[in-house]
Amino acid sequence: MAEKILHPRPKAVERRHNDRLSSANTMTLSLYNTLSKGSEVFRPLHDGEVLFYTCGPTVYDYAHIGNFRSFLAADVLRRWLESPLCERADENGAPTGEYGYRVRHVMNLTDVGHMVDDNDADGGGEDKMEAARERLLEDKKSGKLPTGADESFDPGDPYDIAQFYIDAFVEDALALGMKVVREAQDSPELLPRPTNEVRGMLAMIIDLIEKGHAYVGADGVAYFNTQTFEEYGKLSGNTMGKIRSGAGGRVSDTTQAVKKHPADFMLWKPDTAHLMKWDPSQVFADDPALAKKAHEFGLATGYPGWHLECSVMARRLLGDVIDLHSGGEDNIFPHHECEIAQSRCATGEGAFARYWFHPRFLQVEGAKMSKSAGNFFTVRDLVGKGFTPDAIRFELIKTHYRSNSNFTEQGLKDAKRMSGRWRAFFEKADASNDAGERNAGVAAGVARAMNEDLNIAGAIGVVSTWIGETPAPTRADGELMREIDGVFGVLELSSVAEASSGGDEDSAVDALVQARQDARKNKDFAEADRLRDELSALGVVVEDTPDGPVWTRAVTL
Ligand SMILES: [Zn+2]
Repeated sequence: MAEKILHPRPKAVERRHNDRLSSANTMTLSLYNTLSKGSEVFRPLHDGEVLFYTCGPTVYDYAHIGNFRSFLAADVLRRWLESPLCERADENGAPTGEYGYRVRHVMNLTDVGHMVDDNDADGGGEDKMEAARERLLEDKKSGKLPTGADESFDPGDPYDIAQFYIDAFVEDALALGMKVVREAQDSPELLPRPTNEVRGMLAMIIDLIEKGHAYVGADGVAYFNTQTFEEYGKLSGNTMGKIRSGAGGRVSDTTQAVKKHPADFMLWKPDTAHLMKWDPSQVFADDPALAKKAHEFGLATGYPGWHLECSVMARRLLGDVIDLHSGGEDNIFPHHECEIAQSRCATGEGAFARYWFHPRFLQVEGAKMSKSAGNFFTVRDLVGKGFTPDAIRFELIKTHYRSNSNFTEQGLKDAKRMSGRWRAFFEKADASNDAGERNAGVAAGVARAMNEDLNIAGAIGVVSTWIGETPAPTRADGELMREIDGVFGVLELSSVAEASSGGDEDSAVDALVQARQDARKNKDFAEADRLRDELSALGVVVEDTPDGPVWTRAVTL
């Protein structure tokens, strides 16, 4: 039943040069797996190909930088797997001499069924899309609709709301170089939306009911019967006993009476008042057999549960068993626990995702990000303040994904400087007359670091040392830098940012910086100081480097 998009098997990326990692340094990727709670050699199910599913944003508001921290960690993992520096492992985990996997990466955009209190595995609270509608209708009354919501935007229509925030998300994600979103510009099926997949969801519910893993309660809600899946709780460490006692407020009282076990969670909720609802008999209008079953099982007009959505979309687009699944650490329970139960009971396979990847939360200036604390930022907030996408991306990816990262103004400035330094090195190398030779030690150093559960700080350190020790980079150095940046994805952004800035304002600043430089050359320090003051009044900071003055706009968080 699951329709699978077929794609050609990847061709092995054979490295002909013998400039690769020396055997002493050769390693393959070891990745921490939340499921086994340990580091494992990464080995995909199919040779040379990785099937990767990421839980994407719920499109009821702008995604914030904490969301992007997690999405970009998944992006770096994907880029590393694709990198010509990443050596593949054979079935025993030994290096194969072949480099780079083909990655099929899918990320959903949740546009229905994600409840406000998503700690309630049984679907308590209000749908986030409904909450967004109430918020936006209020905003409209007070004339405060978000920027870009034009005349045609209807805050009363959840489909309009979803589209508005999807557009914003795609814009931010492209600005930050997220490859899955970039690819989806040509292959939109890579960003599936649950409202387009309701048929598959109802079909999976019917299948689960028939297999004895789901039931419709007296309240008309279809629940997953967690007692039929022994491994429920394995991912999160939440044993059934703990869940039964309602530890951590994980189970709401309201629906307990109708469920077979407190941990049972919602697959389908009948609700004729919900703004986004589907009538199973209409969904299966062309399939009387399924329509009949839906009716017999008591599946009434309503909407799907968030957890079910991901199981269905992952299966349709990637298959019954996938290699990698990522999401924020808050997704581990209940969301991912529930996905595993549904998928494995529907497919009968011994695994759903073989490796689970969960980046930790982001803090801002050492504190939890919150709107009330005034330290809550979206990507567009930061761009509006004058920070460039390359600096934002660098700052968001530079900390190990399993550590809480601390996003700071100083960090953004350092990231900008680092990106500038990398860029200058690359440009110098590119313009060199010396073809040079590939620096195998640097390639090996970056690979070694990234293979250690994506030790990105280690890889950045290797690049920094290399740049520091290479005053005259060759074209081969430039080529290696481009290869390394294929993983970091920073230089490709700064070139975009630089090209799109410029203009009259910048040339006026250039002229002032040049005048100050001339004054300094002529030892007219009074004039040089005066020009520096003039520049700082314009919000421009000039830094004197061995390569001449470099100016940036002063920005603050
Ligand atoms: Zn999900």
